[in-house]
Amino acid sequence: MASRVLPNSQNRITQAYSSSHLAVDLGWVTNESENIVKAHSSGTIIELVDGKNNNQGSTGVEAWGNYILIDHGNGFKTRYAHLEKNTFLVSKGQTVSQDTPLATMGNSGNSYGRHLHFEVYENNGRIDPTPYLTQGFDPIPSLKYKVHDATHGWLSWIPIEFNPGTSSNEFAGWAGYAIDAVQIYKYTYRVHDKVTGKWLYWNIGAGDNNYAGVIGHPIDGLQVQGLDYRVHLKGGGWLNWITTVNDTSMGYAGIFGREIDRIQLRYKGPIEV
Ligand SMILES: [Zn+2]
Repeated sequence: MASRVLPNSQNRITQAYSSSHLAVDLGWVTNESENIVKAHSSGTIIELVDGKNNNQGSTGVEAWGNYILIDHGNGFKTRYAHLEKNTFLVSKGQTVSQDTPLATMGNSGNSYGRHLHFEVYENNGRIDPTPYLTQGFDPIPSLKYKVHDATHGWLSWIPIEFNPGTSSNEFAGWAGYAIDAVQIYKYTYRVHDKVTGKWLYWNIGAGDNNYAGVIGHPIDGLQVQGLDYRVHLKGGGWLNWITTVNDTSMGYAGIFGREIDRIQLRYKGPIEV
């Protein structure tokens, strides 16, 4: 089956994904029209490098040679590396659709033989692209969160706000009722327990038995990795948005000792380089 990014008839994987190669390499074919790389899914081109020669010893960003990075807006990005210089059919900032031709496969950067080096990023970390060669990314509604309070139990799932930087009426929580547990699908997060005055363990993902919090203990702090987030104080207002937290030394949302009755999550904005 032909892949979405290189719809040629052979679709050879010349190097698989591994811990030392966070990508999939796809080989070239003799029919040049089949070596034109296509956008995996709709999105915006947020990085584009052209004009680099083949340089097999290159390192760092140079190792990708000529490349394109597309932000798909739903937590996923795709990178297409080692492209041939002066073959680009798109420009930085351009919006593309699935199948939009991008450029021709090449051998630029740290590449030993002509191929496409294809990377998939989920929440800024590189994941195995193999399943996505032939399928799209999860639909946006699958990225979601919900909260629990002592009176209502678990409330409804809320989709994570799509557009960074826009305010939204979408939030989780019932005004006036202290939140005591949180679920955030696919993300890593933790809460601060107002009763014990301690941060609980980091929690990954969501499920009936997979949440952060102690039922019956109101939370007074929240940390989420890879998203922007804010909280609303019970009897108070919204606090400031917190940008991503990747370690415990950085910020959190909340004021210790003050109960939280609403939380809101949104995707981070594109990273400028
Ligand atoms: Zn590669």
